Amino acid sequence: MRPDVQPSASHFINGAPVEDTTGAPLGVVFPATGERIARLHEATPAVIEQALAGAQAAQKEWAAMSGRMRGRVLIRAAGIIRERNRELSVLETLDTGKPLSETLVADAASGADALEYFGGLAGGLTGEHIPLGGGPGGDFAYTIREPLGLCVGIGAWNYPTQIACWKAAPALACGNAMVFKPSELTPLGALKLAEILHEAGLPPGLFNVVQGGGDVGAALVSDPRVAKISLTGSVPTGRRVYEMAAAGMKHATMELGGKSPLIVFDDADPEDAVSAAILGNFYSAGQVCSNGTRVFVQGGIKEAFLERLARRLRGAVMGDPLDEATSFGPMISEGQLAIVLAHIARGKEEGARLVTGGRRAERPGFFLEPTVFADVTDDMTIAREEIFGPVMSVLDFTDEDEVIARANATQYGLAGGVFTRDLARGHRVVAALEAGTTWINTYNLTPVEMPFGGVKISGIGRENGHAAIAHYSRLKSVYVGMGGVDAPF
Ligand code: NDP
Repeated sequence: MRPDVQPSASHFINGAPVEDTTGAPLGVVFPATGERIARLHEATPAVIEQALAGAQAAQKEWAAMSGRMRGRVLIRAAGIIRERNRELSVLETLDTGKPLSETLVADAASGADALEYFGGLAGGLTGEHIPLGGGPGGDFAYTIREPLGLCVGIGAWNYPTQIACWKAAPALACGNAMVFKPSELTPLGALKLAEILHEAGLPPGLFNVVQGGGDVGAALVSDPRVAKISLTGSVPTGRRVYEMAAAGMKHATMELGGKSPLIVFDDADPEDAVSAAILGNFYSAGQVCSNGTRVFVQGGIKEAFLERLARRLRGAVMGDPLDEATSFGPMISEGQLAIVLAHIARGKEEGARLVTGGRRAERPGFFLEPTVFADVTDDMTIAREEIFGPVMSVLDFTDEDEVIARANATQYGLAGGVFTRDLARGHRVVAALEAGTTWINTYNLTPVEMPFGGVKISGIGRENGHAAIAHYSRLKSVYVGMGGVDAPF
């Protein structure tokens, strides 16, 4: 029996569910069947105002608490999420269509990791002492680490719960308040997170969820009370949001799209390289920003790689995402499926060799077969544009310098990976890659301890790791004069 996922209200503000049925209706569809499973409403201007005003009012008291006390709330929330992992994973599966076999390990669990990690850091957030000479009793400076104030988080639909946690955890740890807008396609996970944070003791007003599309996002981003925006989304949206942030001189973190290279040298373990290419192209039906969608394979290993890849893909189990035996789910929506099918048609037109897949599956919902193109060249559209679906492009290469130059010949710079048994080469290649997040002999692992983010048009700022603290706090410098004050006259 499928659980009822209709929330009691569309939004969560000031510690309580809030409804305003005058907002435009927002249907939630289970991508595996196309059925509507919940009905919500977009935030009206009154709802947006309530969220922003409530967050602003609550923030000062939260910032005045000790970091350790703030951290305790986050760590408690992490515990509740872990206890309820299965229920939250089923919800995430219904919201996104991703197989339960994935959501059980990658979504709420990764959100809990973030709450626990930043909860732990919260008590240790400090400025620094800067001696300025003169020995004991001489002048010195110190810095005070302050929260930014009111932060806005805007999420994409591929990892709704993880994205909400990756933004809320460091924001709250640093003493900020957050108003979060999920993607209109996946509004459910963030509401649960809000409930859980409050159950864990978060005071009302500090984490608020408002629903809606780009207009609601834009209203939040452009509000003068907002000090920081963190967006996960596409490059075109990132450009618009970054421009609005710039107009108000706001802090911004942009986690945007990519077209990342995965480079497989002849000496790589072929089975591991294939595993990484599968994870980096077909997990979450390929809807992952850091995917290694340009798989560069050196001549000597190419046949072994393609043969193993074809064999392994036959093991993919497409089916009901709620069945834990399913390992490959649907795309998020009919619209995204159409975009990906158009890319596949373009790949064929431009002369890429379709090795497997390429068609919509004959079943309800938005399923697309895992698709592999070989003999892809750098100029083809499928090698240049982000597809955001289960489509892998395999490109040939001969030597190291060549592949580095080709891997970097893109405006994107989110991620990249290299497979080789020669570790000196592995380090040399990732050092040369123009990418924010890289892997050697693995792919797409994003533990919360490791900073994550892009360079070039893939974004600015970093999520996760200690690095995220700098993006949710600011420094005040204090110069302390310990002697007299000299003046020229
Ligand atoms: P979109 O850019 O379409 O949307 C992202 C979010 O921004 C949504 O909540 C959207 O609202 C909102 N939005 C749209 N227009 C505006 C606006 N003018 N002002 C404020 N907010 C706005 O991305 P998708 O949801 O389609 O997600 C896919 C993209 O996200 C891919 O490019 C992918 O690479 C990227 N991504 C990046 C990640 C990273 O960490 N680097 C991780 C995951 C995805 P709505 O959609 O509800 O209208």
